Amino acid sequence: MLAGLRKEFLYGGRALVRDNALSQRLVHKLRAHETLDEEGLQAMGDRLLHRSLQAAIDKLPYYAHITRDFTPREARQALRELFPVVDKTALLDHPQALYPNGGVKRPWQALGKTSGTTGSPLVVFRSLQSVQMEQAFIKRHWTWGGYFDGMPRATLRGDLVTELERQEPPFWFENRYNRQLLLSSRHLTDQCVDAIIGKLRDYAPAMMQAYPSTAYTLALHLRRRGQALEIPFLFTASEPLYPHQQELIREHLADKILDMYGMAERVAFATQCEYGSLHVNTDYSHVEILDQDGEPTDGYGQVVGTTLHNLAMPLVRYRLSDRTRWKPGRCPCGRPFPMIEPVTGKLEDRITGGDGSEISPSVLTFAFKGVENVRKSQVAQVGAGHWELRLVPDLGFTQADQDKLLHNIHHLVDPTVRVSVVLRDALPDTAAGKFRWVVNEWQDGRRT
Ligand SMILES: [Zn+2]
Repeated sequence: MLAGLRKEFLYGGRALVRDNALSQRLVHKLRAHETLDEEGLQAMGDRLLHRSLQAAIDKLPYYAHITRDFTPREARQALRELFPVVDKTALLDHPQALYPNGGVKRPWQALGKTSGTTGSPLVVFRSLQSVQMEQAFIKRHWTWGGYFDGMPRATLRGDLVTELERQEPPFWFENRYNRQLLLSSRHLTDQCVDAIIGKLRDYAPAMMQAYPSTAYTLALHLRRRGQALEIPFLFTASEPLYPHQQELIREHLADKILDMYGMAERVAFATQCEYGSLHVNTDYSHVEILDQDGEPTDGYGQVVGTTLHNLAMPLVRYRLSDRTRWKPGRCPCGRPFPMIEPVTGKLEDRITGGDGSEISPSVLTFAFKGVENVRKSQVAQVGAGHWELRLVPDLGFTQADQDKLLHNIHHLVDPTVRVSVVLRDALPDTAAGKFRWVVNEWQDGRRT
């Protein structure tokens, strides 16, 4: 009872901050940017970038020596020439220089934290304005799927919605402040999933938010039951979305998937439109794609972003371990935002084949073509040219399924890689409820 009351406060409070009239106005304003031409968008980006760089010079000792003497039109050039690329390690090692106020958060600032799946977690200070802007950008993306405030939505992410040991419904929580059905992804089990499917049918959400892995797990359960839910739009985020997941999700769970790319540091935000293109929101942050020498590239490189909205602690030229490249041309949707290729997994989780060349996770999904009776899987690099294929087998799993997987890997993915198959009872999610499908656990193989 007490827990229930606390949730009411928590989500009620969130609704007050996130869904007030101001937020509606911000979304409206952001939507107007979609009709700007390239020049208009660039001029606005320059203005916001100039504001961020000035704030960085004012507030962070690391930049104190840099001249403030440049105009908005010169902001991009100043960024490239005067501001070095920084990363998580730099922030962890030099908090006095790269955090405002001597590294002490002001009471009115919010605290953000990275998940720490790839090392030490990092904290960032956020201004309240930037927190509100974040929500507005997310809501602008929702409008790309015809979703507006007040319509019912379902959420199947890492939220701890109910006690894990709960065996009887409800495995969900209805947040009546903004018509949100929060479902427990921990209860996507044979025993509990029928109740969740039934609840979703009754609730009929206009859209669902999920991790790719949680949506995929639900779609697998639906397939095993010969059922389908036709949720109009699924918004995915927080993990790479793989082709094999998309296929099954579209067949059994949702008509259309709109993916979103972002991170706790909030230095880049890209949103997929109804034509499948991933658009970099250039009014959210300034994004560069840099090669290993720190030079701009049209080929694959690392995402480096500069905030345009968090003036409390401006992250400037912050390098992420995500890799992608610019995609030339204009999208049929008509929006002016530039496009990127799908963002591949973390650099740390790149894996290599028998001859040491990199294997794309999307190619890796070919291993599972036509393979059934696998509940969950994970591919781990455990040595040079050596993968461990971890499987949670379904009831009907046989040696033939295993043989088919190995055959697929050697015929469709990589002919010389050595593969050890390990059967497991479960493959755990991270503490944040996310799941990494491809992992590199081979320390010696890490690039610097
Ligand atoms: Zn588009």
